[in-house]
Amino acid sequence: MAVNTTTKGITMEEARLLDSTDDDFFERGKTDVKCPRCGGTIVLKRYGESYTIGCEHDCLVLAYRGI
Ligand SMILES: [Zn+2]
Repeated sequence: MAVNTTTKGITMEEARLLDSTDDDFFERGKTDVKCPRCGGTIVLKRYGESYTIGCEHDCLVLAYRGI
């Protein structure tokens, strides 16, 4: 999976944090990591071949595209 788009203004640290939850979602279907900006739940949403990992309130989102 390659990171396709990210929230404008997202920091490397925030991107790394979101990216690190990827394994949680694929192993357990959820993550205990909270949004560093608002404390919201981090959720994974699927869109066909792609998916996004981000805050439930959309303040931080990483988008991935399937290969
Ligand atoms: Zn948030």
